[in-house]
Amino acid sequence: MIPIYSSIKAIFFDMDGVLYDSMKNHEVTWVESLKKYGIDFPPREAYMNEGRTGYKTIEIAFKEYANKVISQKDKETIYNEKTRLMHLQPKAAIMEEMPRLMTFLQQRNIRTFVVTGSRQPLLLDKLHNDYNIESDHVISGFDVKKGKPDPEPYLIALERSGFKKEECMVVENAPLGIQAAKAAGIFTVALNTGILDDQTLIDAGADLLYPDTRHFAEDIMKQMTRE
Ligand code: CA
Repeated sequence: MIPIYSSIKAIFFDMDGVLYDSMKNHEVTWVESLKKYGIDFPPREAYMNEGRTGYKTIEIAFKEYANKVISQKDKETIYNEKTRLMHLQPKAAIMEEMPRLMTFLQQRNIRTFVVTGSRQPLLLDKLHNDYNIESDHVISGFDVKKGKPDPEPYLIALERSGFKKEECMVVENAPLGIQAAKAAGIFTVALNTGILDDQTLIDAGADLLYPDTRHFAEDIMKQMTRE
């Protein structure tokens, strides 16, 4: 038995790449929108920067790949274009076994939260419909000033949950999200659902790693049922 699974009272789930198969859409739209403004952004960077705010990602892309400082107005223009392209992408599928896991946890009275940098307007409706997550259990891009990799979003989640950090766990897929969770002092499970190698997620500080959502969901349900 992995000890943390027996004592957990709340789980903080990241959203993109953990609850929805949406990272491919982010990859394609980052590469395309930045290309229109002369930046050759390698697809891998979409995953390495995952979790940052959109404006911060644009700032870094211009600095790293054009050695340029970009104005706030230009950041907004590019981010709007990225958002426009996102709306043209196929609807992101729900990750395998995650709705079943969410129901299982909620039935055992384990509190489930979502912590995401996203600012999608329909986010709350979607999380409620697909995962039965209440709106006060969602910490989104609207709630934070700094965002990942700063611990801020996970510290907000801890405070809202009312539990000690030892009673909570984070589920993440991205290096910066893992860094944020570990900086908040919380046990962090990494699910490698993207294109990065396992070592990148381990180096970011992950305590445990699974190859995908199905292996994680099946393992945690099996271990909790055995108790
Ligand atoms: Ca993510």
